[in-house]
Amino acid sequence: MIQINPDLCKGCYICIEICPKSVYIISNVTNDKDIKIPFPENEKDCITCHLCELECPDQAIYVEDKK
Ligand code: SF4
Ligand code: SF4
Repeated sequence: MIQINPDLCKGCYICIEICPKSVYIISNVTNDKDIKIPFPENEKDCITCHLCELECPDQAIYVEDKK
């Protein structure tokens, strides 16, 4: 499961660029800074490599390992 904390996201979209499985899209949902936050549209393709979680400069992403 992927969780994004919208309040921490600053819209750099590093997560979108870095994900090897193109899991994220830019959603139309905005946070209180009027930033469109990413959404894990293709979460089923996630290989839980944690790259997005590690590279997000604002620790806005949490990727739970699949059981
Ligand atoms: S890397 Fe983090 S701060 Fe940047 S767009 Fe993704 S969730 Fe937001
Ligand atoms: S954990 Fe890896 S595969 Fe899954 S969304 Fe993040 S970067 Fe993409």
